[in-house]
Amino acid sequence: MLETTESSVTAVFPVDHVKVSRRSEVDYNKLKFGDIFADHMFEIRCKNGEWSQGQIMPYGPIEMMPSANILHYGQGCFEGMKAFRYKDGDVNIFRIKEHHHRFSNSCKRLNIPVVPLEVFRDAIVQLVDLDRDWVPGEKYKALYLRPFVIATEEFLGVKPSTSYRFYVISGPVGNYYSEGIKPIRLTTMPDYVRAVKGGVGDAKAPGNYAASLKPTQEAMNQGYAQVLWLDAMERVYVEEVGAMNMFFVLDGKLITSPLTGTILPGITRKSVIELAKEWGMDVEERPISIYELIEASKSGRLTEAFGSGTAAVISPVGYIHHKGDAIQLDQEKMGPVAKKLYNTITGIHHGDVEDPADWCTVI
Ligand SMILES: *Cc1c(COP(=O)(O)O)cnc(C)c1O
Repeated sequence: MLETTESSVTAVFPVDHVKVSRRSEVDYNKLKFGDIFADHMFEIRCKNGEWSQGQIMPYGPIEMMPSANILHYGQGCFEGMKAFRYKDGDVNIFRIKEHHHRFSNSCKRLNIPVVPLEVFRDAIVQLVDLDRDWVPGEKYKALYLRPFVIATEEFLGVKPSTSYRFYVISGPVGNYYSEGIKPIRLTTMPDYVRAVKGGVGDAKAPGNYAASLKPTQEAMNQGYAQVLWLDAMERVYVEEVGAMNMFFVLDGKLITSPLTGTILPGITRKSVIELAKEWGMDVEERPISIYELIEASKSGRLTEAFGSGTAAVISPVGYIHHKGDAIQLDQEKMGPVAKKLYNTITGIHHGDVEDPADWCTVI
């Protein structure tokens, strides 16, 4: 059912409207992730450090020269965030400023001009407002937002591009747990690494994901959902999973890897830490050895493991394989800490739980 509300957003960017919306063709009971895109997209260009006038246009193919930097050397980066619907029909965007802050850091690391906060925020707010009928009405579903920037200069030399384009595309996504929450199985892949200190592991840069595809495929062939990345130097300390940060409940304390440049600073990770601290839990950000975890799981001190990320919010982990040994946890259901975090964060998304610190931008 569509619950359209009056727009309260001041239009900043000119809009080229679609002639006919594709919204009615989409079956909202069968939403998956990332295969359906809403009617409009945002584009702004940057030449020699100057941003032009941005515009909103129908979602569709973009043209660039085959020599564009992004296609060869991958100078680009992206974000992943969501807009949700409250019960009263209002639409909100989760932690937009935090996403801009991280996007800016990714841009800086890739030597890309930073997209100003006003452009990032106004573009996303106006785009979501325009396509607000695309925001699902049901709890746990969302409009996924994918802002990204690409280097478009027509030049094959390896140097920073002089021209860039920033886009925002969006699309409705389903409940990650439409078939019930089942803890996932992970494996380490000690022959591969994701990131090294000083590299680009803490940026949402395309190459990180391209490099993860082969080891992830190997893990899947062995019956695991994802790879649990270990640090590149000693290959002992737990870093993160494909697009999720990792948390462990050990002796009743919440522990997660520190942000030392090799893991992505997740906004969900930040939200989890802020909530847990508010609840009076001890939270430790420190290196976590896989062997410490194996031992703690055998002695019963490790009670939960879960990932955090925009897509699944909280994803319980039931089993982690490492070199013939394993961390074994509840393989049937989410643990109490993960469950409380999942209920609270999804509650905030949909207005069932009070927004603790203006995390949601209502539009
Ligand atoms: C996006 C991402 C995360 C999670 O970040 P959120 O802001 O919580 O979605 C974690 N790890 C990697 C590698 C990612 O790309």
